[in-house]
Amino acid sequence: MQASLKHPNFTSAILEWYRIHQRDLPWRGSRDPYAVWLSEIIMQQTRVAQGTPYYRRFLERFPEVSDLATASEEEVLKLWQGLGYYSRARNLHAAARKVAFEWGGKFPESYKGLLELPGVGPYTAAAIASICFELPHPVVDGNVFRVLSRYFDVDIPVDTGPGRRHFDQLAREVMDPGQIGRYNQALMEFGALQCVPANPDCASCPLVQSCGAHAAGTIGQRPVKQGKTRIRKRYFHYVMPIGPDLQTLLIRRGGPGIWQGLYEFPLLEQEADPTPAEIGALITTHCGTRTTIGTITRFNDAPRVHKLSHQHLYTTFWLARAEGLPEGALPLSEAEELPVPVLIAEFMDTVKNSYF
Ligand code: SF4
Repeated sequence: MQASLKHPNFTSAILEWYRIHQRDLPWRGSRDPYAVWLSEIIMQQTRVAQGTPYYRRFLERFPEVSDLATASEEEVLKLWQGLGYYSRARNLHAAARKVAFEWGGKFPESYKGLLELPGVGPYTAAAIASICFELPHPVVDGNVFRVLSRYFDVDIPVDTGPGRRHFDQLAREVMDPGQIGRYNQALMEFGALQCVPANPDCASCPLVQSCGAHAAGTIGQRPVKQGKTRIRKRYFHYVMPIGPDLQTLLIRRGGPGIWQGLYEFPLLEQEADPTPAEIGALITTHCGTRTTIGTITRFNDAPRVHKLSHQHLYTTFWLARAEGLPEGALPLSEAEELPVPVLIAEFMDTVKNSYF
């Protein structure tokens, strides 16, 4: 431990806790920037149990950054399907192309250089820079906000400019620049396993004697956040045209937006149930006038609620028997190969298994 550390007890307790409790994760111990970057992008906003199979699949399918760079966007989105936040997948692909085609397959070895990669912000750049190159940049993610705000009992809101600056400074004071890669991973792991959001097990925590929030009884109020995210309600009516040989039509969604580049059925976005005339007009818009519509069936009685971070999608599916679908129509089995939002994949599965 270096003598210059401002909070040596905190720092050494975190490192010692990590030595004992760290999980054996597939990217742990790697200093390969490609593998570390891949793990960091996949694990953002994702639980480890959910993200780990994706990490393995990506690395197996794309062992080198050049493999990812030369893949089609559709293949990348398909492999990503189910992880959500699809802009991360598009950025992942764009960043791989930048590394492979502009930088000769080599990741930048500086914090500033890493920030030039699409989808890499201060947190991810600090993680890669410290883990792969031992550059002294502290990571400050949700876990770190929580641990520091509790241990130092800070009531400055983390989602404000002054809060951000305060925590950046604090994170610098407690980091161990002599083993920064290990230390950063230790602090994030401590937040993920020990100082968890709800009901942390303080009795077993090595920091309990000096923890400010524990002494003050403010654990439940740390970290402080100023703004609550406003959730927008949206009402989606997806109409699945289905031909006599079980062909259907999926349309590639334009951007920008949550599902840019993914495929979906013709969509009406409105709160009220669509009338048969509105459904007919929608199908004509996408399929042309040669397609005729027969029976229309509402598939789910109550809308399914699909929750994203800033919006809740109230989704109803409609099946429309159709004759004369246009050339782009695909058999259901082929449509399943396209990258689609998870709720569409689940719907197609239900249709296939229960309806026909
Ligand atoms: S004592 Fe409790 S609140 Fe404080 S750091 Fe440990 S787990 Fe977190």
